[in-house]
Amino acid sequence: MGIQYKADKRKFSRLRQSLVHLTDEVRQLLDPFLSDRPVIRGSVYEFKRKCGKPGCKCARGELHRSMVVSASEKGKTKLRVIPRGSLVEVESKVRRYQKLRRARTRLVEVHKKILQVMDDMEAMRREEVPSPIKKRSPREG
Ligand SMILES: [Zn+2]
Repeated sequence: MGIQYKADKRKFSRLRQSLVHLTDEVRQLLDPFLSDRPVIRGSVYEFKRKCGKPGCKCARGELHRSMVVSASEKGKTKLRVIPRGSLVEVESKVRRYQKLRRARTRLVEVHKKILQVMDDMEAMRREEVPSPIKKRSPREG
């Protein structure tokens, strides 16, 4: 017989639609994981420092600059200097890594939502075992 009241039917149809949209999104979120291209964990930024030599330009405020990958390892932040010629390559591998992480985070959220929608839909469809004694409801007159 299905869901009877119009408002419930509308609600159920909205839930059905969001379930379809969420599963479409899951499919899209899988894409970055299907690739086998290398990734580098961390984030890229410009690191400025003083070397400590008294006569150096950095002592006058002109700091040494290098591009680094920063990543935490066993609770500590490690910096790795990116060799001059490798910046573009390293940056794209780091971007690829960050895309994976974002997709993973979103997958966790989407899965929670999917389960919630499924539970709501199930609750709307749930019925009790019919009572053996027939009762006439006032609606039926
Ligand atoms: Zn210096």
